[in-house]
Amino acid sequence: MKNSTLVNFDEAQENLSGDLLSSVLLPIPVDKTYNYIIPNNMNISIGDTIEVNFANRKSLGVIWDINKNNGSIPQNKLKPIAKAFDNCPQINKTTRDFITWVAKYTMSPLGQVLKMSLSTPEAFAEEKPIILYKKSSKNHDIKLSTSRKNVLKIIEDNKLYTATELANKAGCGTAVIKAMAEKHLLETEETSAPAPCTNPEHQEIELSNDQMQAATGLIQQINKQEHNVTLLDGVTGSGKTEVYFEAISKVLASDKDAQILVLLPEIALSQQFFDRFQTRFNEAPAVWHSAVSKTKKRKIWRGVAEGKTRVVVGARSALFLPFKNLKLTIIDEEHDPSYKQEDGGAIYHARDMAIVRAKIENAPIILVSATPALETIVNVRQGKYKSVILAGRYGGASMPDTHMINMRETPPPTRLSFLSSKLRQVLTETLEAEEQSLLFLNRRGYAPLTLCRTCGHRLECPSCTAWLVNHRSSNRLQCHHCGYGMIMPKKCPECEAEDSLALCGPGVERLEEEVQSFLPEARTLILSSDILTSETALNLALQKIHDREVDIIIGTQLVAKGHHFPLLTCVGIVDADLGLGGGDLRATERTYQLLHQVSGRAGREEKQGNVYLQSYMHDHPVMEALLAGDSDEFMDIEIEGRKQSNMPPFGKLAGLILSSKNERLLNDFCSHLARTAPRYEQTTILGPAPAPMAIIRDQHRRRFLIKTEKSINIQKLISKWLSLSKCPSQIRIKIDIDPYNFL
Ligand code: ADP
Ligand code: ZN
Repeated sequence: MKNSTLVNFDEAQENLSGDLLSSVLLPIPVDKTYNYIIPNNMNISIGDTIEVNFANRKSLGVIWDINKNNGSIPQNKLKPIAKAFDNCPQINKTTRDFITWVAKYTMSPLGQVLKMSLSTPEAFAEEKPIILYKKSSKNHDIKLSTSRKNVLKIIEDNKLYTATELANKAGCGTAVIKAMAEKHLLETEETSAPAPCTNPEHQEIELSNDQMQAATGLIQQINKQEHNVTLLDGVTGSGKTEVYFEAISKVLASDKDAQILVLLPEIALSQQFFDRFQTRFNEAPAVWHSAVSKTKKRKIWRGVAEGKTRVVVGARSALFLPFKNLKLTIIDEEHDPSYKQEDGGAIYHARDMAIVRAKIENAPIILVSATPALETIVNVRQGKYKSVILAGRYGGASMPDTHMINMRETPPPTRLSFLSSKLRQVLTETLEAEEQSLLFLNRRGYAPLTLCRTCGHRLECPSCTAWLVNHRSSNRLQCHHCGYGMIMPKKCPECEAEDSLALCGPGVERLEEEVQSFLPEARTLILSSDILTSETALNLALQKIHDREVDIIIGTQLVAKGHHFPLLTCVGIVDADLGLGGGDLRATERTYQLLHQVSGRAGREEKQGNVYLQSYMHDHPVMEALLAGDSDEFMDIEIEGRKQSNMPPFGKLAGLILSSKNERLLNDFCSHLARTAPRYEQTTILGPAPAPMAIIRDQHRRRFLIKTEKSINIQKLISKWLSLSKCPSQIRIKIDIDPYNFL
């Protein structure tokens, strides 16, 4: 990392002795710090967040280092720190070390990673106080309106109220309250909202023997008071959440300053989960994800940095909060692919980075899953992680029975239907038994492809290598990659034939239509991200399912996560093979995890659950593992395959994605990179190849794949290689260490 100086000299700078120089890291995608003078009257230490003038704007920054000014930089080239904040919490050393580590590992500019920690600039703005109203101690002789009399009657209780609370009670507007305060009929007091989750108190619940044993296993690991990784491996419905809550309460009780982070995939952050937490700890957790309001984020950020907030439950970005004293991390659904952050700045895997952070904090971390990631299984087998197992479901529920519907032998009754007779029959029987069914298809919309029967033209996105997906509910064609959309045309845009466009294949909307055709009395509900666009809408839908207002749920992967539907007994997986195609390294592992998780929604209480897999590949190892309810053999084969081909976790992998609107320039530069690629024995560099999604948003895309032995420093290799050439400004290079996505 280089230090650089600011050239723009700002005049009129007094009070500068220039004795001390600070290196300030700014939250911008740059890999260096900038020098600023520390004014004599400013009391500053490393880790403080300050404000500086940078490129003619105010910017937040963090003091990364402080040195004596040895005069090597001319005084007139330096600016002072513009502002220090009162009572500002520090970005402490472990958080700074973590930021540095992530930047190095993911090959992202240091400032870009800092930006993820300084994600809430609101945290440094003056906080608007909350004004509370109470009884006035002064006497008055003003004549009072009825509203005012009502207000005074309420306030006789000597309690403090906000204007809204008081106005609501008195049945008047808040203007009345404010006017009364001006006339000293009421007194005011200023306060600020407290930090969230400062005092969670554990409520005892009865654990089953198995759960108790598992909880003891976790607590033993915690009691070692060192960094260690434990996998909580429990079947779906075994009550893993209750077990790790036990570990949380242990840490909360034994260290009054301890902070705990629970990471969940974004779509599993449901009201159901928060309610469970609230019941168990008598207080809501601090909830952190992209849709949380800025005001709430401000409170959480400061509460976390000041060490007041004890438990944060959040999506992957919560990992970058400036915890003061992080003592335990839990990664629920640790296998979930959404932990890999691919868009935006740094590309990182939140589970892997959480393990690094726990190591820096010298604290334990618990990975939780019913279908652990292959990497995690290997680490357990090699003894690097400990595992704690929950073999049975909670409360006497048994695992569902899984049945194969071989679609080669029993295809759907007509060409335009997608549900086999068997699946139709069990849906009908489940409805008659007044139980719920779930149909799973990981495809949004009505049909994934629209094609012209006359000329064969397929309707594609004008900016991406992708078909447009038909959405019946809005009568539109939609690109799921760039958001492009158009009204469904009447004529073929290519040959102009009328009524010639055919919709091919099913999406969830089409399945709903089919269900309604043979079960018109069934109440159906689609659970899919583009229909349930807000958190409220999703929670409402989940509530409807709980309240028995739905007979058949038709869902995308949105239903796979953590939901507990007590009445659900029948799960139909419509296209079990979807996802097995393509050459993706993790395609089979992921398909297994997803289908197993979906299956795990069935029969979670007294009634036996049944799962039906519609597949054209009934003897595929994934299907066999699902049928047997046992993944060991399947995982053995997967692990052996990875070992043979030296793929992660046995070797290292990195992706290089180059994109540009200028295709020729891109091709030329890629060929140049290929020519200058390092040639080592333990390294293979594949490419350049057009990415499977060769164009996204008009950007042409080319990929390189770098594969090395484990002993090689892949970051160093890449940075050396790239430093040999100057990348034209029209080309963007994205480096993806440990890629999950090969599109
Ligand atoms: P998992 O995450 O392992 O799939 P959950 O933690 O969602 O399972 O638990 C399944 C259901 O069983 C939930 O409704 C949960 O509240 C309930 N449950 C689990 N353990 C207990 C317990 N010890 N006491 C009461 N209810 C429990
Ligand atoms: Zn598109």
